[in-house]
Amino acid sequence: MRQQRSIRRKMIVGLWLVLLMLGTLAASSISGVYSYGRLVRDIEEGLVTAPRSSDLTAAIGRLFRPLLLEHPHSGIAQEEADFARDQRAALEQALALVRSGVAEFQAKLNKPPYSANVREQEARVYRSGLLKIDNDLDAIEETLAADDWERRRDDYALQVSKYAQEAFDKAQSLPDPSKELLGRLAQAQINYRWHRSLVWIAGAATLALLLNLVHCAIRWVIRPIRDLHLGARRIAEGDFDYRLSSNTGDEMTELAQDFNQMTERFQAIKSDLDRQVRDRVQQLIRSERLAGLGFLSAGVAHEINNPLSAIAMAAESLEYRLQEWLPLAAADDAAEVRDYLRMMQEEAQRCRQITEKLLDFARGQEGERNLYDVTAIVRDVVGMMRHLGRFRDRKINVHREAPAYAWVNGPEIKQVVLNLVANALESTGADGKLDISITERPDQVELSFTDNGCGMSPDVLKHLFEPFFTTKEVGKGTGLGLSISQRIIRDHDGALEATSAGKGQGSTFRLRLPTTAQTERAVA
Ligand code: ADP
Repeated sequence: MRQQRSIRRKMIVGLWLVLLMLGTLAASSISGVYSYGRLVRDIEEGLVTAPRSSDLTAAIGRLFRPLLLEHPHSGIAQEEADFARDQRAALEQALALVRSGVAEFQAKLNKPPYSANVREQEARVYRSGLLKIDNDLDAIEETLAADDWERRRDDYALQVSKYAQEAFDKAQSLPDPSKELLGRLAQAQINYRWHRSLVWIAGAATLALLLNLVHCAIRWVIRPIRDLHLGARRIAEGDFDYRLSSNTGDEMTELAQDFNQMTERFQAIKSDLDRQVRDRVQQLIRSERLAGLGFLSAGVAHEINNPLSAIAMAAESLEYRLQEWLPLAAADDAAEVRDYLRMMQEEAQRCRQITEKLLDFARGQEGERNLYDVTAIVRDVVGMMRHLGRFRDRKINVHREAPAYAWVNGPEIKQVVLNLVANALESTGADGKLDISITERPDQVELSFTDNGCGMSPDVLKHLFEPFFTTKEVGKGTGLGLSISQRIIRDHDGALEATSAGKGQGSTFRLRLPTTAQTERAVA
């Protein structure tokens, strides 16, 4: 079966899912942490380094303090001159401080990271604002440097306060970079929230992927393995009718199919073995019965042989003695006496033949074996049968000319062949046909006798080789021919089997004989 989805591919898919899961997790976490780090840095740097316009306005505001000093208005010229001088000195000092505050603001503006992040338009606003403030401060400085300051102090103070107010307003109108910082902080907070959501979504997706992975592992691997395991255990416990089922379309399905095939084969082997054991047990029982029967028959045959000989001898001698007397008796009586005497002799003779056969069957002794040409034996028997008047109209075909050698006792095998040919011819009527084929096989010669005679029912086939089993009329058959033949063939370590499709379908007897001596074959 072609693999649709192999476990290897599934494992790779599983691995990719795990990697994807870990990657997503790592990316979202790292991104969240970096975002948080950027936010903290931004706030920190912004707070420490960003220029503040409030500092600038506070610095410029220092110029107002000397201007607010209270005038003595005493009318004393010396006092008023001293006040004007002190006020100018305080203004110059305040101006110096304002200049350094402006310079510091300027420096912060030009210093990274602020200078790197500030927008061009914003920078232009700062530049023009600071330039105007510088101009105002220059104007203040110029005013303070006037030679007639002490004399025209009120006018100059008014001028200075005008320039200071202008610079102050300008500084106040400048955009406050810390406001920008607040905007970026808000942006950073949005970013942070976004990344936090991303972490949650990624976490949920990872969990879903993990659950999916576990589900797939259970469906694709764990459950089929468990089913295989349970099925294998059931089969191991003897339930050979059980079949594994798996529809995963991968190696598990192949394994289940192989396992089922193995179980089927095992089941077939087991039932074959069961059948063989049953056959062997039946054979054993039959052999036991035959052995007992053989023993009994031999005893009986031996016991009745002598009385039979005595009867035959007595009948003969009676016939001889009565030869003088019978001509004197009435012709009918004499004929009757002769008939009885002859009948006694013939029946005694027939009984003796039966007991001879019984003794043959019981003896079963091994005759001397040699290599015999089975074709010649068959041709001999067939030649003899053709001369028997009652079988003259039967057709016998021997499908072999060439010799076929077997390691047998020639006369015994001749007896078997004679029995098989006689049975086959007797089973057929006029125009009956018998085909004999002889085939050489490794270690064996096989003979088959196929006739178109009356055939055999399954019941006849079952009892065929039992002694005294016959379907012939009383007095015509002894039922010993096949049982003796089988005994002979078994002694040769060969086999004799019969088959028939049924009554009226003809019969086939198959005979197998060894080509080498049993001991030689055992050694080989
Ligand atoms: P018998 O020939 O004395 O009956 P056998 O042992 O030779 O004894 O045969 C036993 C029985 O087997 C026969 O009575 C006959 O029913 C059956 N038989 C043997 N050979 C054939 C055959 N070729 N065709 C049909 N039946 C046969």
